[in-house]
Formats: sequence, structure tokens, C-alpha cells
Amino acid sequence: MTAFDDLYAANATFAKEFENSTLTGRAARGLAVVTCMDSRIDPLGLLGLNPGDAKILRNAGARVTDDVLRTLVLAVYLLGVDRVLVMPHTDCGMSKVTDSDVHALTSEQGVDTRSLEFHTVPDQDEALRHDLMRIRSTPFLPRDMPVAGAIYDVHTGLLTPAPRQASDAA
Ligand SMILES: [Zn+2]
Repeated sequence: MTAFDDLYAANATFAKEFENSTLTGRAARGLAVVTCMDSRIDPLGLLGLNPGDAKILRNAGARVTDDVLRTLVLAVYLLGVDRVLVMPHTDCGMSKVTDSDVHALTSEQGVDTRSLEFHTVPDQDEALRHDLMRIRSTPFLPRDMPVAGAIYDVHTGLLTPAPRQASDAA
């Protein structure tokens, strides 16, 4: 018995029904979505997407980190992405704590995390503006690429587009 037996068993069933796909690794709908690791979010389902349609990048808080930028560059130039949606959500754990809080909580469990930056989100609107600007201002991505932000409501399933900035390219 391993901690993963349930998953391997489920996969055996899945693979029996799996039809050999003709999909490639390119994003068929030209979309990349940056969203949170929150387990309530079904990115494909809530956006009417299917496997093969989009690149889904997830981390705590849906933050545009260096690694997300690196991945977007690959997605855009190599894998067919031509638009990016940054999608944080309501009731996000990252908006309820500060980095100091996290360090204190982990410290209680005997771990010193002070060398890690958690990118917690004290102000979700401000963080989203900042993250959209990071994508729009990086020299590594096309200036005219559509980039949007929207907050997903985990209780209603509704997506609310963030107000566009005067400087929005598209
Ligand atoms: Zn979250």
C-alpha cells in the first residue's frame, strides 16, 4: 500500500476509457490562465474549456512570479498562447495572511521559512494590478498581447473582470 494507490487505481479506470488524443502540446484556444492552487477552482470547467485548449499556471494566490513569467514566455513563443487571463479568487487564503503570519505559523511547527517569499496578498485588487502590469511591461512578451484580470467567486462560480486600466493595450 502506498499513499497514492487510490490515484493509480482511478487512473487505470480512466485509461480504459481514454481515447488516444490527436491534441498537441500547443494551446488550441491560444489561452494561458494564471490562477491559484485553491482546490475549489476548476479552471477548464469554469471557462468552458477542454483539455488541449489552454495552458494553466497555478500557484498560491495566482501571483505572477518570475517562474510564471518564464513559463508564459515559453507558452507564447513555443506553444501557441496569444492571450493571458490572470484569475485570482474570492476567499483566497493568501489574502488572509501576511508573509510574517506564515513565517510565524510555520515557526510554530519548527520550520524557519524566513528565506522564502510567499507573495501573500494583503490587497487583492492592488496585487492583481501589479501582476497584470508585470506581464504587460516585461520586455520578453509581446506588447500588444491581450492580458486581462478577473476574480473568480468560489461560491457563485461567477467571474468578474477587473476594471481595465487606461494603459491597457487590449
Ligand atoms: Zn487562493
